[in-house]
Amino acid sequence: MFITRLIYCSELSGVDKDAITNILQVSRQKNAKAGITGMLLFNGVYFLQCLEGSRDAVNETYHRIVHDNRHSRPVLLTCEELSQRDFTDWDMAYVPWTAEIRSIVRCFSVDDEFDPYKLGAQSAIGLFRALRDRLPDNEFWSKPLQTA
Ligand code: FAD
Repeated sequence: MFITRLIYCSELSGVDKDAITNILQVSRQKNAKAGITGMLLFNGVYFLQCLEGSRDAVNETYHRIVHDNRHSRPVLLTCEELSQRDFTDWDMAYVPWTAEIRSIVRCFSVDDEFDPYKLGAQSAIGLFRALRDRLPDNEFWSKPLQTA
């Protein structure tokens, strides 16, 4: 069976950045039930998220997400079929904004400041893989901590 991978970006809207705590908690519960894995990067302003799972589950989840009024300007960066997942271990790995993360992100950005709307699809995929590979046992993966 193939896996669908979808990556989008969006911008925090109408709520405080502490809303990430609730977003993550609900996301992880729902994703675990739906067989969705992935990663969410948040710098306090922008979201960049990767969702992986069955085509039906990814579609259903993405449609719910885009109607969420806690963010705005959702833009789909890529949606494609894969033979296997990149993020087998995480219902939704959370990547908080730290100096270490910022230095990795910079390698994939066109500007010094992180702006996911300027990322190409391949850069977004490369960034998620770099985060996964370089920080495998980071204690922050599962905790909503500091943002910019
Ligand atoms: P309900 O819980 O009934 O909520 C309906 C709407 O009410 C929401 O869309 C939102 O606009 C609003 N709302 C809900 N809770 C709050 C709150 N605490 N404060 C303010 N407004 C609220 N869901 C997933 O299942 N998987 C994901 O990977 C995922 N990633 C997300 C990433 C981002 C950046 C955001 C903003 C949301 C994400 N969500 C994710 C949450 C998703 O949008 C839904 O809110 C969630 O799945 C619950 O769906 P529901 O239909 O039960 O909505």
